[in-house]
Amino acid sequence: MSKYYKISGNKLEKLKTTCPRCGDGYWMAEHYDRFSCGKCGYTEFKKRESKENEKESS
Ligand SMILES: [Zn+2]
Repeated sequence: MSKYYKISGNKLEKLKTTCPRCGDGYWMAEHYDRFSCGKCGYTEFKKRESKENEKESS
């Protein structure tokens, strides 16, 4: 399942995201807030854990 984890920990998984549908070897293109697979169109949104610039006025 997670072949790329053992390469160098889960840090690599953050830098490079593989498509869960196409499998290992199919890297997803990185966008500003998401990853998308050019093969099947799968989109995975990034977690907004380090984004504190949101302008939300309540
Ligand atoms: Zn895919």
